[in-house]
Order: sequence, then C-alpha cells, then structure tokens
Amino acid sequence: HAKAAGRNGVVLFERAMLADAQDKLTLERDLALALDNGELAMHLQLQVDHRGAPAGAELLMRWRRADGSMVRPDIFIPVAESSGMIVSLGHWALRQACEAWLALAAAGHAMPLSINVSPLQFRQPDFVQQVRAVLAETGAPPHQLIFEVTEGLLIEDIGQTIVRMRELAGLGIRFSVDDFGTGYSNLAYLRQMPLYELKIDKSFMHGTPHDVNGTAIVQSILSMAGHLGLRVVAEGIETQAQASYLAEHGQPHMQGFLYHRPMPLGQVLERLGIAPSTPAGAAALPAQAQ
Ligand code: C2E
Ligand code: MG
Ligand code: MG
Ligand code: MG
Repeated sequence: HAKAAGRNGVVLFERAMLADAQDKLTLERDLALALDNGELAMHLQLQVDHRGAPAGAELLMRWRRADGSMVRPDIFIPVAESSGMIVSLGHWALRQACEAWLALAAAGHAMPLSINVSPLQFRQPDFVQQVRAVLAETGAPPHQLIFEVTEGLLIEDIGQTIVRMRELAGLGIRFSVDDFGTGYSNLAYLRQMPLYELKIDKSFMHGTPHDVNGTAIVQSILSMAGHLGLRVVAEGIETQAQASYLAEHGQPHMQGFLYHRPMPLGQVLERLGIAPSTPAGAAALPAQAQ
C-alpha cells in the first residue's frame, strides 16, 4: 500500500516538474520575443518623503502579452535571469530609466530614479562600459540614478563586487540594497561598499506596527542605517498606521500602495501636474503599454 502511494507520489511530482519545465520553456521563448514585440514597459512607482511629497521613483518592469494578460515580474524576472536574457532586458531598462529621468526633468520634476540591477547584469565584464555608454547617449545625470542590488550580490565575490561598485560610484551612480534584511549580508562588508540607501523589505513592514518581531526588525534597520549614514526607503507601505509609525521613527522615505502604485510614465507626469507642452525628453520615450 505504502509503496503504491509512494510511487504515485513520485509520478505526480514528475508530472509537476515536467509541467514546470514546459512552462519555463514557453516563458523563455515568449520573453525572448517580448521586447521586440513591444510587450515590455517600465512603470514608475513614486516614493514619498515623510510628508508624503514625491521624492523619487522606482522603475519596475511590466510584461503584457499580446493577448492582454500580464505576467508578474516575480515569474518572468527569474526566467530572464536563468536564461541570461536579463542582461539585454536590464540594458534596455536602464536606457528607459535615463529617458524617463529626462522627461520628468523637462516637466520640472527632476527626481532620483531607482532601477533594479540583477546580479548577472552587474557581473557582465562590460557592465560599467554599458552604463557609461547609456549615460553618454542619453545625457542623463548619473548622480540621479540609484542602482538597487540585492544582498545576494553583496555576499558573493565580494572583492570584485566592491571594485565594480566603486567604479560605478566614481561615475556618480548611487547604490541601494533592495529587500534589506531578507538576505545574509555581512554588516562588516556593507561598510566597505559605497552604499547610499537601504530598502526595508515589505515583509517586515507588513506587520508593522502590530507585530512585535517585524517591528523590531524595522526599528533596528532604521537605527543601523542612521549609524552608517544611509538613507532608508521603507517598501510596501499600505496603511496609515505604518506611515504614522515611520513618521515617529526616523522618517524614512516611503514606497507603497497607500501613496502611489506603479504606473506608466504618462500617468506619473499627470499625477505630478505637468504643463501640457511636450518636452524634448518626453518625445524620445516610446509609448508605454497600458
Ligand atoms: P522590488 O524591487 O522589491 O520591487 C518592489 C515590489 O513591491 C514591486 O513589485 C512593487 O509593485 C511592489 N509594491 C510596491 N508597493 C507595494 C505595496 O504597498 N504593497 C505590496 N504588496 N507591494 C508593493 P513588482 O513590480 O511585482 O516587482 C517584483 C520584483 O521583480 C521586484 O521587487 C524586483 O526584484 C523584480 N523586478 C521588477 N522590475 C525589474 C527590473 O526592471 N529588473 C530587475 N532585475 N528586476 C526587476
Ligand atoms: Mg527594487
Ligand atoms: Mg524590494
Ligand atoms: Mg524584490
């Protein structure tokens, strides 16, 4: 009996794996065409200061298939990473960020823009050169760009990572540690890196201020960042209670649905109250999906 059930379990498991592998192949194949087919767009999510005023934005990739369905980044970004496609997508995303910055600036709303940089992209031998080229071609100011990296990048190949980060910091680029607290970064190493910002992961904000454990982590990140002289952005702010807590504890910048959802650049410009004249920078930006 037990043996039969075990065998059945194995068969089911294999089927699930096969289905997964099939899905992954389909996603990989479709994603390879998505950029050329105009199915990808970069949305922007405004971040606010403790008074609720816009203080920057994060660019987030969106994939809308031809049939109108959306694929979540949690699904397609890992596929793009394992297939290597993230390198070209990341390069495209960086250019979009530069162009978005120019459009915002032309409308009188220059603000730092954050962009997620995947470890694979960061480790490309010509990454610094690519960044330099995009900056030169677009004319976007490097000190207005924040590269969000994850703790995973900061614990592997630390020597190389630091050298490269310093090189990019030399250009003016700033660095933020995304999803801070969910990885295993070594605090001693963090101090050697040219960091500008920590982003408190939304999983810790979720229970703040009601859950004791999450709140304790939020509090210790805020205090550590204060000691290290780092700026903090708290992610996943959905409630007034969370915002009020942060207003009383360090007043970090905030990013979350309570304030602004990710949206196409056009909607961000509308939200910020832009004069209708079309600036040169905006014209260069292709129409966003959605
Ligand atoms: P992330 O970099 O940590 O981005 C923040 C995520 O939190 C975004 O999810 C955003 O939509 C979501 N978010 C913002 N405010 C709230 C809130 O109040 N509540 C909740 N529940 N969620 C909120 P999104 O856009 O689905 O992206 C997921 C992840 O995919 C990102 O996490 C990032 O790791 C990755 N990703 C997205 N775009 C890119 C990209 O252009 N390049 C790379 N390498 N990764 C990207
Ligand atoms: Mg991010
Ligand atoms: Mg995050
Ligand atoms: Mg993340």
